Amino acid sequence: MINLISDTVTKPCDKMLRAMMKAEVGDDVFQSDPSVNKLQHMLSEMFGKEAALFCPSGTMANQLAIKVHTNPLDEIICDHYSHVYQYETGGYAFNSGVAIKTIVGHNGKITKGQIDEVINPDYDWLPNSRLVVLENSCNKGGGSYYTLEEITPITKLCKEKELKLHLDGARLFNVLVETNEKPVDIGDHFDSLSICISKGLGAPIGSLLLGSKEFIKKARKFRKVLGGGMRQVGYLAEACIYALENNVERLKIDNSRAKTTGDFLSRLSYVDHVRPVQTNIVIFEVKQDNLVEKLLSHLEKDQILATKFGHNAIRFVFHLDIKKEMMPKILSSLKSFIP
Ligand SMILES: *Cc1c(COP(=O)(O)O)cnc(C)c1O
Repeated sequence: MINLISDTVTKPCDKMLRAMMKAEVGDDVFQSDPSVNKLQHMLSEMFGKEAALFCPSGTMANQLAIKVHTNPLDEIICDHYSHVYQYETGGYAFNSGVAIKTIVGHNGKITKGQIDEVINPDYDWLPNSRLVVLENSCNKGGGSYYTLEEITPITKLCKEKELKLHLDGARLFNVLVETNEKPVDIGDHFDSLSICISKGLGAPIGSLLLGSKEFIKKARKFRKVLGGGMRQVGYLAEACIYALENNVERLKIDNSRAKTTGDFLSRLSYVDHVRPVQTNIVIFEVKQDNLVEKLLSHLEKDQILATKFGHNAIRFVFHLDIKKEMMPKILSSLKSFIP
């Protein structure tokens, strides 16, 4: 099977499994798991933040960030495509009792001007604007990304208006291999960051939350109350360390295969529109509604799995289990589809 459903479908390779088997472990609730401590240190150093926290999922990392940054009656500002709004089960309301204000951005990206327009004045009848969340790359935006140049004015505005700024960086490394920007410069622009190692980097489980010491101390307490305090979790941390040491540079390959596929799709008669491909995600709209199901079942007959993504659209996500020899199969299957 050629599985383009998500970059979360990757399975650990033999070398990663061997590294996991050899992990040095301890009890992470007592903060004494050496592999977890090593991973947390590795990422906090890399992004120039004081501390890091290993989390079982990116959703938990984002939810902890929202919880620490806000109080009930506060409001989050983000793009209407954001993962925290679309795909975290409304957790901002459930876990933190906060409201959310969504902005219709451009392919999942919002600007300083758009944020400035929706910051609430201090009236009793309005929630307090407290936190801005950016997503980089933007999943539902088709893998689009912000450059530091675009982020800088947003950081400045948040400082001026005393808003916290969180980055949902689930696929941040797919961006960094394209822009060649330094992780410390990204880290410097945000109060907190979440990063997934379980996406295109290929670890089976693991996301990290980064921020100040005080922020992470609070986040650790909330992680515990959510049941996310794990014991000998170094086996999983070791998989993340392996992924960071071996699988970062190769993300360029996934990005470039996504671009090749996007270019190819844009020349097919049944494709209406391909969102600009900047990283490892391709989202395209087909010309008629019923074509989504038809195309997906055509692909499946050729052993290719993909997913419907909102109205009229299909998403392909490239990752390390999509090999070179699979590319001609994907392209020829797309070409042979007769609507
Ligand atoms: C995958 C993802 C997350 C976190 O997902 P989990 O499945 O909970 O690890 C967060 N944000 C974005 C943009 C994502 O794509």
